Amino acid sequence: MKSDEFSAATRRRNLEQMRDGEFDIVVIGGGITGAAIARDAVIRGFKIALVEKGDFASGTSSRSSKMVHGGLRYLKHARFKLVWGALRERWTLKKNIPRLVKPTKFLIPVYRDSKTGKFLLSMGLWLYDILALFRTEKLHNWLGPDDVQTREPTLRKDGLVGAGVYYDFITDDARLVLATVKDAWARGAAVANYAQVVGFEKDRGRIVGTIVKDSISGTQFSMHGKVVVNATGPWSDELRTLDDKSASPRLRPAKGAHLFVPRERIGVTEAVVFDSRRDGRNLFAVPRGDLCLVGTTDVDYHGDLDHVAASKEEVNYLLESLNEYFPSCKITKEDIVSTYASVRPLAAELGVSEDDVSRDQLIFESPSGLVSIIGGKLTTHRSMAKALVDDVSHKLAQRFAVAPARGCETERLALDYDEEKLRTLINGLTEESKLDEDVARHLIESYGSSATQVSEIARESPLLRERIVAGEAYLMAEVRFAARHEMAMTLVDVMFRRTQLAYALRDHGRSVAGKVAEMLAGDLGWSKVTVEKELSGFEQACTLIEARGDA
Ligand code: FAD
Repeated sequence: MKSDEFSAATRRRNLEQMRDGEFDIVVIGGGITGAAIARDAVIRGFKIALVEKGDFASGTSSRSSKMVHGGLRYLKHARFKLVWGALRERWTLKKNIPRLVKPTKFLIPVYRDSKTGKFLLSMGLWLYDILALFRTEKLHNWLGPDDVQTREPTLRKDGLVGAGVYYDFITDDARLVLATVKDAWARGAAVANYAQVVGFEKDRGRIVGTIVKDSISGTQFSMHGKVVVNATGPWSDELRTLDDKSASPRLRPAKGAHLFVPRERIGVTEAVVFDSRRDGRNLFAVPRGDLCLVGTTDVDYHGDLDHVAASKEEVNYLLESLNEYFPSCKITKEDIVSTYASVRPLAAELGVSEDDVSRDQLIFESPSGLVSIIGGKLTTHRSMAKALVDDVSHKLAQRFAVAPARGCETERLALDYDEEKLRTLINGLTEESKLDEDVARHLIESYGSSATQVSEIARESPLLRERIVAGEAYLMAEVRFAARHEMAMTLVDVMFRRTQLAYALRDHGRSVAGKVAEMLAGDLGWSKVTVEKELSGFEQACTLIEARGDA
């Protein structure tokens, strides 16, 4: 294993290694899919490079609904295999990185006029527990109307029959990607963010390498790969067109939007799942700290993939549905703290509605040899990566006589400490490092075994020990940690993905952006002009997460 520095200097060294380098597998895309492929393949002993055109997880993988779940609603479409596979991955992920996979109780209220009544719901919940092989936090149960009202007093009472209660998990998607990329790098993969594939190198029509543009320095170089993998999610058709102008689309991009509202405004104690009265779609309100995440929509999308935002219609639709189930709360646009939207890289299926499109993965090879992977879910990233690397291993063996040193090991190799070690660590942080309980808990959940490194940085100066914003558990030390150990290259990386401050604060962190940028300037050697550019890039990113709508 290498040292724990994962900084701009690491990035430069990795890019040097990539320049004219020859890799077994070049992975394009640093979302959860690309990250998991790089990790799986490097563990098997292949020589791997991964390039990401923006920041790691800057695509869909930091803007999902943040659930690690089997997908109860897919049972309605009889997708038993998909749900079984996702439930299996849910458990593996919880075992391998418990700090980022937190059990959460979900409540589904049933009303006299609900499309899914008590009987059908109970059957579904039994099936869900059975398909999970009972590997769940607790088995599902049923609550009568009085119990539901005691637990969720703001939920609509008219016609309430009761509620089914089951368990799934929630995560921090951006940090899950980062943990996966960093582990891949620590095991020997060359990885770089802000490195875009802008073309392919070919020999007699077959891809032999990629042309990579380093967006920080503006330089371009060639990187050679025996097999090149397109893991660019919603951009995969775009990348396939870069390879072959006549390539026909394989994606059905579907956009989903979310809102963050203050939890106290809705008053939910547990996650609540409800059907939109307008179109019967499944929606949810999931508590996340002081906020509640409300989502999501599902509409075909053919707009700009680099600037996806929740539309006014989507915001109004989510507010309308929320207010139908929590009528006394009267949530309005003014309550919204932030919004976000992203695009599902689903495989095209003819003749089905957006909501019904399969979440199964699809792996296929273009005539040039470009191997693409689309579909799938955040939850199933490990098994998707396994399927892809199995496939590519075959190709490497047949075409290049390159054999892996070992088989897939990601099912058993943990990404971080187990729950017991985390508990010991939290005591150390509160007792020895004298950190506040909320800060210690946050550091453990965000950084796991590296939390002590953050607390050591915090000891370097009073400024580093300060909270970035009063009332939030984030420390200034995390900004330095992001630059030195998490390859943060921009202010947006820190405010939107290394921390979630942009989403958690009403001003999206504008009031603290200056001091965060100053700290990054020290670590990344930014000039005054660069700081100004960073602040303006941050401002642009903030406009994408503001609430549009007139409800
Ligand atoms: P992305 O995360 O988009 O990554 C692709 C990357 O490729 C991007 O970072 C992009 O910058 C990069 N890239 C593009 N072009 C290039 C290039 N030329 N060179 C280099 N890099 C390039 N799944 C769940 O399990 N649970 C959920 O709760 C859940 N909720 C969801 C909610 C919504 C609204 C959506 C849209 C999806 C949700 N999903 C969920 C699905 C899941 O989020 C996605 O399947 C997954 O994040 C896709 O990851 P990816 O790596 O394939 O794509």
